Amino acid sequence: MLVINILVYGVLGLISGSFLNVVIHRLPNRQSIITPRSHCPQCEHVLRPWELIPVVSYLLLGGKCSQCRLSIPWRYPGVEILTGVLFIFTRLLQPSQTTIGIVFDLVFVSLLVALTMIDIDTFRLPDILVGYVAATGLMKIIILAEPNFWSGLIGAIGAGGVFFFISYFYPEGMGLGDVKLVAALGIYFGYPDVFYVIFLASFLGVIFGGISLLLRKKSLREPIPFGPFLAGASLLVLFGKELSTLYTYWF
Ligand SMILES: [Zn+2]
Repeated sequence: MLVINILVYGVLGLISGSFLNVVIHRLPNRQSIITPRSHCPQCEHVLRPWELIPVVSYLLLGGKCSQCRLSIPWRYPGVEILTGVLFIFTRLLQPSQTTIGIVFDLVFVSLLVALTMIDIDTFRLPDILVGYVAATGLMKIIILAEPNFWSGLIGAIGAGGVFFFISYFYPEGMGLGDVKLVAALGIYFGYPDVFYVIFLASFLGVIFGGISLLLRKKSLREPIPFGPFLAGASLLVLFGKELSTLYTYWF
């Protein structure tokens, strides 16, 4: 069962990651996700089916376009592997979660990967992706009552309110995109879990900021996107919920 789960969720994650690569590169430029078909940016060579297999194609091609030998950034297979690993974690670290609950979490995790990469690239969190996070949370409330309605409402208004307050008085440091994402996470996690997410994200942000200052990679004035920390903290809270029960399930 363990091996089957790793295989099934790993492959699902690789396929999702491959699709997320398209979203990450096209959505910020307002390009269609569906057309044109995936092609080399230099020679316009349209990728054939065997060149579209997650990770495998990258290895077979030696990380280069089959026609013009342009290097394919390692980030492409990187996002695929990351999503694959996160999908496996989503299933294995939540053994008591129902299959429907896992499906919601897989969609949620995929959205977090896309939001993280786009925020790193552009310092933006596209409304449409944040909207999908909120919608996924709403569906989870309606179908699974998880979190329950009031918990989701208080989570969204409470957490979103706190961040709106921060962004109002400190607009250079906190964008409206962060406020909307926190409100959406409030729906997804509910109260009080969303506040664990915020606490962990701030903690991760401070540690990362401190390390980059020490390494002189960034100055204090340089903005750091906060979305990746919110996403990382969300994963920690999601995966950490059942940590105490894991031992009895797997050993
Ligand atoms: Zn090419």
